[in-house]
This record gives sequence, structure tokens and C-alpha cells, in this order.
Amino acid sequence: MGKEFVKDITAMDVDFAQWYTDVVTKADLIDYSSVRGSMIIRPYGYALWENIKNELDSRIKETGHENVYMPLFIPESLLQKEKDHIEGFAPEVAWVTHGGEEELAERWCVRPTSEVLFCEHYKNIIHSYRDLPKLYNQWANVVRWEKTTRPFLRTLEFLWQEGHTCHATDEEAHEETVRMLDVYADVCENVLAIPVVKGQKTDKEKFAGAKYTYTIESLMHDGKALQSGTSHHLGDGFAKAFGIQFTDKDGALQHVQQTSWGFTTRIIGAMIMVHGDDRGLVIPPKAAPTQVMIVPIAQHKEGVLDYAYELKKTLARVARVDIDGSDKKPGWKFNEYEMKGVPLRLEVGPKDIENNQVVLVRRDTGEKTIVLTDHLEEKITEILKDIQRHLFEKAKALREEKTYMAQNFSELKEIFAEKTGFVKAMWCGDRSCEDQIKEETGATSRCMPFNQEAISTECVCCGKAAKKQVYWAKAY
Ligand code: AMP
Ligand code: ZN
Repeated sequence: MGKEFVKDITAMDVDFAQWYTDVVTKADLIDYSSVRGSMIIRPYGYALWENIKNELDSRIKETGHENVYMPLFIPESLLQKEKDHIEGFAPEVAWVTHGGEEELAERWCVRPTSEVLFCEHYKNIIHSYRDLPKLYNQWANVVRWEKTTRPFLRTLEFLWQEGHTCHATDEEAHEETVRMLDVYADVCENVLAIPVVKGQKTDKEKFAGAKYTYTIESLMHDGKALQSGTSHHLGDGFAKAFGIQFTDKDGALQHVQQTSWGFTTRIIGAMIMVHGDDRGLVIPPKAAPTQVMIVPIAQHKEGVLDYAYELKKTLARVARVDIDGSDKKPGWKFNEYEMKGVPLRLEVGPKDIENNQVVLVRRDTGEKTIVLTDHLEEKITEILKDIQRHLFEKAKALREEKTYMAQNFSELKEIFAEKTGFVKAMWCGDRSCEDQIKEETGATSRCMPFNQEAISTECVCCGKAAKKQVYWAKAY
């Protein structure tokens, strides 16, 4: 049963990109509009984002941060203040030139990120060591004029949070950069069941204006990598450009040390591409808008619907439960909620009611279990937990399977010619080798992992003394 319902989703192995597009539209996550590169996030997609947002927001608050809101527009002169920053962002900034009919004396850009707005404000409110640290975060939309776009992964406008903090010392700012990367990794691994590699970006790949950038990198089902969140130590470059100074305990004037960090709707794309299959989405229980979908069987028979709605009420104590009491066929419903990635399906019909039981079907394995209603609440909690664990283990196993090692350039080229995945290899630290690898393999440096292994003593590209181990991959 069922094949006829899922024929619209292209098989992953046939065309992964088309599979992705099919899933995001057919699972009702998004719709397209006449706005290029932007998406309408539909209720199911937005509910998913809200769950992720809530998980992240509570962690941001637990680590001492406060939420604020900054203006959407940035006057050009303000954006110009930090040289590296504007140079990096200029190609992807959208400009407002008119207000109504009138041409503006100065262009405004739509924020691509809000460092400069935070800096201008920080200059006004930070004066003494007593004002530090300042730990602000904002939930907002930003715009980057991307050339090629794909729903969630890379859009012109996207939703995110951006943290911006000021500290008295370089060491404190460093600790903050690490702390927030850990928070991102926690959300990825423990909410979205996406295993990540933590590391530092090379100078080529770091944030415009940063001293250094830390990143979490994840691997998609097709073996391509995705930068899933970044945390930057900004040093005192912005502070100097904006004059953000404080008087320290000895009465000396110092510049603050800053960080910034961002996590976006892109992560929904990662979740889809890590866990999804040929039947559609697979959502880890902790992120799922609906964790258990009740499908009544033979619902026209007396008492079935009432019973099912009662079940929904009781089970709401242990999970996010929904019910489809529409007059569509059960087979249609099975396929619909499989496609939407609901972790657990609960079937209940007249016979089940008679026997005091229900049928539970897992989305991740398809496994069916008959459960006595007496044990239902514990059983559901237990299975949801197991699905969460299983998805993470499975994703981790796939990543291990698609992680390779290269000792020299011919090995590196051979691997990228035949396979997609992470390749661990040593690097001398020269930009020219990074460029050459990109040119000849299509792979970029994803990160220098915190967890360094010494694969060899020589750079995989030039053969000179190696400084760092790097994860290389073709990336989204
Ligand atoms: P950044 O401020 O450049 O460090 O970006 C923060 C995070 O936003 C990156 O780590 C990416 O994961 C994500 N990101 C960057 N560009 C886009 C985009 N066009 N759409 C969605 N997410 C993005
Ligand atoms: Zn080299």
C-alpha cells in the first residue's frame, strides 16, 4: 500500500536537489512567491522554526543574555565605519534609495547583520567596567542579496538570531565565543539530532571584520557539508572603529572586546537533508510540531472518533499530539503524515478499542507495535526518546561512513572525483593551497577542527610543513 501516494516525491538517489524541493513544498513547509529567493514559511514550517527558536532562546537566556530589537535599516555611513566589514558585505547588500517619491540624501541598506547598529548603541551605554559584560541577542530577519538560492539553505531574506556581546578582556570574549558555539552544537545534536564538527574557519572563510570565526559543520545525506552556525571573536576592531571604551578598575580607558554569533532558518534545511528519506520528511521528536498523529480507523463506526479525541486529550500530557478526524481515507492519512515526518503514528479502530489497545508506527523505522492503553503514556515517551536517539546515531554513522582521509594531493583529488563527504587532510596554512584545492576539487575548507589529529606532517597540497588538520568538503 501507499506507493501511489508518494509518487510525487522524486527519489533521493535519482535527483537529490529535486527530492529536496519536492519535500519542502509537498510537506507544506513553504510556498514560493513572486519575491525571488525568498520563501513563504507556511504554518507547519513556521511551527518547526518556533520549536527550534524556543529551544535556542531558552539556552541563550540561561547563559545570561537579554533579547533586544534593533532597526531594520542601516545608513550607509554607519555601515562604512568598519573597513573589513563593509568590504565583505558590500556585494550582498540591498539598498533603499527612495522614501516615497523622494530620493534619500544618504542610501540605507537593509541589515545583512547588525554589528554596526549594536556598536553605535554600545558606544552610548558602555562607560565603565561596571557596564560589562553586555550580553545582547536579537531575533530578526536579515537580507543578503544571494545569487543562487534554495529554500531554507540560502535565501535572500532569512530569519535568525544574532548575539552581540561586549567584554572587558580578550579572554572573556574568547570564552563567550566558545560558549555560544557549544550552545549551537547542543541544539543541533540534542534537539535536531544532527551531529556536528566544531572548529575554526580559515582566514579566507572567516566573518568579515572578525579576529576569528568558530563554526559547526554538518554533513548532509548526499555527502555535502553545511555550515550550520557561526560564532565570531571580533577582537577590538569594531570597538576602535566605533569608539566603544570603558574605564577599567584602575581608571584606565580601554576598548571592549566583542563577539557575535548567528543561527538561522538554514538549520531546517539541514534537518531535512540529514534525516529525510524517499517518503519525505523525518523530524526528530524534540523539534516536531506534532510528535504523535492519531489516525482513527473505521471512524464512521460508533464511538471511534470520540474515543480517539479522548485519547488525544490524555496523551497531551506526555507529547505534542494531533488527530486527523477528517473524512479522508486512513491510507491517505498514513502517507500524508509520513511525508510530513511526524515521528509516531497512532492507529485506533473498533477492534483496538475492544481490546484496550492501540497500534503505534514509528516514522524512522516503520516498526509497528501494539500497546495496551494502560501503558500508552510511558510507551510513547519511551519510543519518542528512542527515535530521537536512533536518528542521531544513524546520522552519525552516515557521517563516519562519508568521512575520508587524504595524505597527498593525488589522494585528495581521487576522493573528490569519486565521492562526496568530509575529507580530513593536513594544511600548511597558505591561502594559495586553499585556493588550489578549491580550483581542482571543488571542495572548500570547512574548518580546522578543535579536535586535531596528525594525519601526516606535510600539507596535502604543497607538501610543505603542515600546521593544521582541516576538514575539506563540497558544501552548500
Ligand atoms: P554570518 O553572520 O555570516 O556568520 O552568518 C551566520 C550564519 O547564517 C551562517 O553560519 C550560516 O549558517 C547562515 N547563513 C548565511 N547566509 C545565509 C542565507 N543566505 N540563508 C540562510 N542562512 C544563511
Ligand atoms: Zn600548502
